[in-house]
This record gives sequence, C-alpha cells and structure tokens, in this order.
Amino acid sequence: MTREPTEVTPPRGFPVVGMVGGGQLARMTQQAAIALGIGFTVLAARPDDSAARAVRDVVVGDPDDPEALAMFGRLCDVVTFDHEQVPEPGLTALATTDAAIRPGPGALAHAQDKIVMRQALTDLGAPCPAWLEWGPDTTVAQVAAHVGWPAVVKTSRGGYDGRGVWVVADAEELGEVLAQPLAPGARWLIEQYVPFTAELSAQVARSPHGQAVAYPVVRTVQSDGICKEVVAPAPDLDPDTAVAAQELALRIAGELDVVGMLAVEMFATDHGVLVNELAMRPHNSGHWSIEGAVTSQFENHLRAVLDLPLGDPRPVARWTVMVNVLGGDHPDMYRAYRHVMARDPDLHVHMYGKEVRPGRKIGHVTVSGDDLDDLLERARHAADYLTGVVVE
Ligand code: ADP
Repeated sequence: MTREPTEVTPPRGFPVVGMVGGGQLARMTQQAAIALGIGFTVLAARPDDSAARAVRDVVVGDPDDPEALAMFGRLCDVVTFDHEQVPEPGLTALATTDAAIRPGPGALAHAQDKIVMRQALTDLGAPCPAWLEWGPDTTVAQVAAHVGWPAVVKTSRGGYDGRGVWVVADAEELGEVLAQPLAPGARWLIEQYVPFTAELSAQVARSPHGQAVAYPVVRTVQSDGICKEVVAPAPDLDPDTAVAAQELALRIAGELDVVGMLAVEMFATDHGVLVNELAMRPHNSGHWSIEGAVTSQFENHLRAVLDLPLGDPRPVARWTVMVNVLGGDHPDMYRAYRHVMARDPDLHVHMYGKEVRPGRKIGHVTVSGDDLDDLLERARHAADYLTGVVVE
C-alpha cells in the first residue's frame, strides 16, 4: 500500500520541492535533495515508478489530473518537473496553490511544443534548421523549396526518445507520415535534414534572480532517437564554437525566462551549430555531472528552483564518459552487474530500479580519467555487458 503524505516536514526553515513525474530524473534529483537536506516529494503515476521506489514522501496520482496537481502543489514550496508534458489544465491548477512553479508555464511552453520552440528561437535569431509548419494550405512544393529532401517530420507535442520523428526521402513518404493521426493539440513540424558532424548538448542552470552557470558542452551520440553515450567535454570541438554554444544556451535561458536546468540540444555542422531542441529539466546529457562535475545537474536544478546560489559546474576530470544501459533480453541483470563491478572498480554504476524491457533506459555507467579511448572502451563494455550484448 502506498503512503500518501498529507505534509512533508523538513527541518525548520528548509523548503519542500515537489517534482512532477516519477522517472529516473526525479530519482536522481532526490539524491541531491538528500545532500541539501531539503524536503523532497514526487508526484508519480505508479507506485513502482523509478522515483516512487526511492522517495519516502511520494504521492501516487495521475499527473494529467488537475486535482492531483493542486493537491500536490499544496504540499510544496516549489514545484518543478522531471518531464515537460504536463497539460495546461494541470499547470493552471498548480497556479491556484501557493507553490512557485519553476520553470514557469510561459517558459515551459517552449519545451512542450516543438513549433512554439522553433518560432521563439527563430524570433530570437538563434540558428535553427530550416523549418515550416504543415498547415491546411501548405504544399509539397513549399516543403521541397524551403526544407528540401530528405526532410525530417516531427509531431510538435508528445514525442520523446525519437518517437514522433521520421526522416522522409520524398513526397510519397511525407504523405505516408502525414496520414497518421496526430495527438490532440499536436501539429506537424517539417525540418531540413541536417547532415551534422556531431550532436552536442549545452546545459545551463538559471535561477529566478538571473544567476546562471554553464556546464561544458558535451557530445551526445543518439541511435534510434535514444541517447546512447555522452562525452564531457565534447572532443574535437574548437574552443570558439564551444563558447558560442554556451553563450547561446545562456541567452536562450535568459530570453525565455527558464528557471532550473536547461539543455539546449544542438547539431554541430561545418558552418557552426544549429539548435535541435530544448529540455527544461535535468537531462540525460548531464548525468555525467553526478561524478564528473563539482556540482551535478540535479543539485543545480534544485539550487536554481529554490533561488539558492548556484554550484560550480566545472568538470573535475579531463574526460568523463557516460553510457546508458538499455534493457536487453535478459530480465535478471544482477550477475552481469557483479561482473561489471569486479572488472572495473573505477566505474560508477547507476541503476534506476526499473524492470528490464528491451530498449528501455534502465541505468547508466560513468567513468572519468585522462585517456578518452580507454574510458570509452570501459564504459561501452560495461553497458553492453549489463544489457546482455557481450557474454564473456
Ligand atoms: P525527441 O524529442 O524524441 O528527442 P528530437 O527532435 O531530439 O526528438 O530528434 C531525435 C533525434 O533525431 C536527434 O537526436 C537526431 O539524431 C535526429 N534528428 C532530429 N532532427 C533532425 C534534423 N533536423 N536533421 C537530422 N537529424 C535529426
């Protein structure tokens, strides 16, 4: 049976932060909340959600239900999010409570809808892939002229981990994608296919009074739309481009009034960076910072939403590599887990307390040091071994 707190009681004077969403981001935020000594609660959809298994003062309720959000908000001084997909009525219900909503609904809108995001970034003059919205009067000729082939088609809302993203080669394939039903409130975004040389993520933390810090720009590797690997700092990135990417992320955070962590996912091209998308929460591209930075993204997210002075985002090692552990075909990974620890005591293994399902993010490994090739080999081996790809 689940315990539903009627109040969360940290030591006197310490605030309560509530995170909507019970995934691994909330679970890892709790680790930072413990060290800070603040009150922390999550609104989880199910009692076996990753964070619900770890957070004492968990509220189990439907994050799409405005009443559940209002009830949750009344427990908290500040409400923040481990995903951005809280529907508008829920945010309105939260606003009826005394809790501060951080990031606020105005900022969050840019992470909820990719067309709202593209329009705002274009208005700010931030470099983006060429794009257009597929409306009732849009023609294939306009797509060909403005975006070209191949094109990338995205649902503006509700997509994640590559779900809701299609690369189409021509008008026929475009027609097939557009024939699919859209989720309520979603629209079709069509973008230029960017022949990127690397994917980057520039993370910043920003507080309500405007203090902001920038993490080193990292390289991310995605496959099938899922983040597989992160290297911090991004190798082979020239320092001017890295600084430009950090400045762009800081500017976006300020202009959109983001509070908390902001990840600006970017494409590196031969002609500079283009913004792919924004996430206003701790992000997979920042898990390396738990061991690899002076202050982790989870701690800085909490400091930022509480308007506390921010922590130092600098790396503590020359390189830190993070590789995601995805679910494989073996439901029981405990043997593999022991092997990985025995093989490499320097490796940090994080498991999210989730049941194994093929392709699901169930954990990650992190390792820091001076020899990037060696770190990549060790982290990839460990993740593959845990997933069941390597059998020794
Ligand atoms: P999600 O919101 O599901 O993470 P993204 O918009 O980030 O979706 O796209 C997922 C992945 O698809 C990206 O990480 C990138 O590898 C690829 N992708 C997205 N947009 C483009 C584009 N315009 N050109 C080339 N590849 C793209």
